Formats: sequence, C-alpha cells, structure tokens
Amino acid sequence: MVVVLGAGESGIGAALLAKSKNIDVFVSDLGRIKPNYLSELQQNNIDFEQGKHSEDKILSADVIVKSPGIPDNAPIVQKAKAKGIKVISEIEFAWQFTNGTFIGITGSNGKTTTTLLTYEILKNAGYDVALTGNVGVSLARLLAKRDYQYFVVELSSFQLDGCFDFNPHVAVLLNITPDHLDRYENKFENYINSKFRIAQNHGPEDYFIYWLDDPNIKKYLTRHKIVSRHIPFSYKKQDRASAYIQDSTMYVKVNQKLFTMDVKQISLQGRHNLYNSMAAAAAALAVNVKNEYIKRTLQTFKGVEHRLEKFLSIRGITFINDSKATNVNSVWYALETMQRPVVLIMGGVDKGNDYSLLFDLVKKKVKAIVALGKDNSKIIRTFSRLVPVYDTHSMEQAVRQAYLLAEKGDVVLLSPACASFDLFENYIDRGNKFKEAVRNL
Ligand code: ADP
Repeated sequence: MVVVLGAGESGIGAALLAKSKNIDVFVSDLGRIKPNYLSELQQNNIDFEQGKHSEDKILSADVIVKSPGIPDNAPIVQKAKAKGIKVISEIEFAWQFTNGTFIGITGSNGKTTTTLLTYEILKNAGYDVALTGNVGVSLARLLAKRDYQYFVVELSSFQLDGCFDFNPHVAVLLNITPDHLDRYENKFENYINSKFRIAQNHGPEDYFIYWLDDPNIKKYLTRHKIVSRHIPFSYKKQDRASAYIQDSTMYVKVNQKLFTMDVKQISLQGRHNLYNSMAAAAAALAVNVKNEYIKRTLQTFKGVEHRLEKFLSIRGITFINDSKATNVNSVWYALETMQRPVVLIMGGVDKGNDYSLLFDLVKKKVKAIVALGKDNSKIIRTFSRLVPVYDTHSMEQAVRQAYLLAEKGDVVLLSPACASFDLFENYIDRGNKFKEAVRNL
C-alpha cells in the first residue's frame, strides 16, 4: 500500500496517480483538507482521513509519499523511517510512471522564472511538453491523465530531499543562498547538499547547467562528483564558461551548437534575468531546440506576476510589484536593475536577514524606505542611518506614504526581503493588495 501524507496539490496528485495504476492508496492529513481536494478524493473513491494520522495504518505502508510541506522531523515521519519504510517525494513516486525527458530546475532564486521561460521555449518550438513541479499542476496529477515527451519541472529543496532515483536529463542549478535553514538544522551545508541532489544520478550523457560564479556551487562542486556534461554560465567570458555575456551579446554553447543574441532584445530586465535566460537557453539547446525559437521566446516573454512586475504608472511614477522577493538576495537584484530613484517598500517577517548586503545599492539608488510589517524595528534601526525610513502597518498606508515621497520619474518598488504572513496570506496576496492600493490612489 502507498500512504500519502499531506493532501495538497502534490499529495492529491500522487493519490490520483496511484489509483489510476490500481495501486492501493491511503491519504492522511493532520489538518483540514481543502474542499476541492476533498471532493476529488471522494469522487475517485480514494480512502482518506483528515485531522489525524492513524499510526497503525500509516506504518503498514510499503512506501510513503510525503508532501514537501511536512518536515522530516514530524513524529509520524520519524516513526516510519525508524521502521524502515521508504519516505519519498511525489516527484520520485511519479517519475517511475513516465518515459518523458526531464529538465529539472532548482536554486534559491529564479526557479519559477526560469522554469516558465524554458517551458515557453519548448512549447513555442512545438514540443509535447508539460510544466510542472512547484509551479502549477503536480507531476503525478499530469501523469494520471497522460504521459508527455518532455517535462520542465521546478524543484524545491524539499522535493529534492525525497528524491533518490529521479534523474532529470537536464539539471539546472541557478544559485545557492541561505534559505529555509529552519528545515536544515540551521546548517547551510545541509541545504546546499539538498540542492546538489538534482544531479546525483547523472551519467555522462546528461547535462548539468549551473552558475559558475556562485561561491557555494563552486565550493561544493568539488565534493559532489557530477559526471555529466557541465554547462556553466557566467556574466563574463572566461575559459570554463559555456555561456556568458560579451560586448552586450549573450553566447550559449552546448555541444557543437551556439546560440547568440543581443541582450538588448531580451524582454526581461535585470542581470538576474540574464542568468535565468542563459540557463533556459542552455537547457533548450540540450534538448535540441532550434535557435530561432529560443530567440523569439526571449524577445517576447512577459515575465511572471509578482516578480519585478512593472504594472502601472501614475503621474510619471512607476509602480513595480516584486512581492516574491522574500530574501535579501532578490532585493539586491531588484535594486541593481533600477535605473531611476527608488522609494522602496520592504519588511514583513524577517528570516534572520543580513541587510548589509544592500547598503551600497540603497545609498546609490534609494531615496526613502517605507517599512511595512507588524514589527518594523529592525528595518528602522538598520537603514535610518542611510535614508529616511517610514513606519507603516498596512498596505494602503505604505502605498500612500510611498506616493507622497515619490516624484515624477521615480519608481515605487515593493521588494520586501521578508516573508509576508504577518499581514498577508502569502506573497500573492501581498502583491495583489499592493496593486489594489496603487489602483485606488
Ligand atoms: P523562485 O521560484 O526561486 O522563488 P522566482 O522566479 O519566483 O524564483 O523569483 C523570486 C524573486 O527572485 C523575484 O523577486 C525575482 O525578481 C528574483 N530573482 C529571479 N531570478 C533571480 C536570480 N537568478 N537571482 C536572484 N534573484 C532572482
């Protein structure tokens, strides 16, 4: 019997897939199952429980498919492991039911953007391709319906932790900066090792695409023997780089194929998006997409909502929604991209941020900071030596304050560097409330 722990998108997908393959399956969720998922379980006659974990039943499983949201130290997971039951992720479970070729994408920042970009390139090239993983519909749910020839899958470290045999033919590792350390015994090394699992089963015919200049990737590459074809990308031309920028041209080389493009033609703004674009182009070349489709997609890709989303100008002031910037690193790239004076709205739930990384860019580009959170004391303390900092506790208040401070030609940028759940449901809710407040100005 397969036991599925956690009835979210991936758990329900796993249950549907098991059912479609006539495998005995039981779903257990300690919390309340969302109504839409509940009715799916009922309609498909899938055995389930909610509000509890029945140990006897769960511990009689042959294999447990654990949702990424459940930590490894949850008592039921510990007990299962102690009994020798294999605990795997939904990706690992689903992977045995497909013959498709996988492009897997991970990193601390840029996963969703790069995954969507890569998917769009393959789709525009006419490939039979599915978009899955952390973004959109779970892999298992897709496979319960039909197989595809190609999958572009966004992989979080939590999903990778439950992967053992899964082997994406093309693996992309964008960058590694500290994140989610609470789930890794506060050891950065554990989180790094988790990211490297993306290429743990690579053979010589696979492709490993990664950021050459990332100090953490560089260091840990020597400890993880990855025998596939390495395609490192860099901002600057250097001997080892297969992809780089030189004289405003992007070069991407994979095997004997070369893709070039004038960076001014790339629709996404910012240096981080050049990295994402190089990674996506390299992944596409690795599965033999023709250059014209890569170029056309990079020219027209609209970007992803809540990621440096330029959505409105009022009286010459541009409003940019970067609500997904939940760590310091992504705010750094947002500020680096800005070419006009910035009023920065930031704050929320601080995950132990080191803001000193932002000091130079704040001095250079930010005229004022509007702190938005339940408790803004750290932001006020940290930044008021550099720029004026305003204390606000609601999105309406923050947007009005920023609007008062901004002048024609300025940018109001929401790029919080923090999680959102002190005042909002999640980053999507925060971004939507920002846009609503701006529209109401
Ligand atoms: P993820 O799925 O890894 O969270 P997203 O594509 O959703 O990544 O972007 C999250 C945030 O990080 C956004 O603020 C975005 O502008 C920023 N970002 C995107 N790509 C990168 C990158 N390569 N390096 C650093 N920050 C990035």
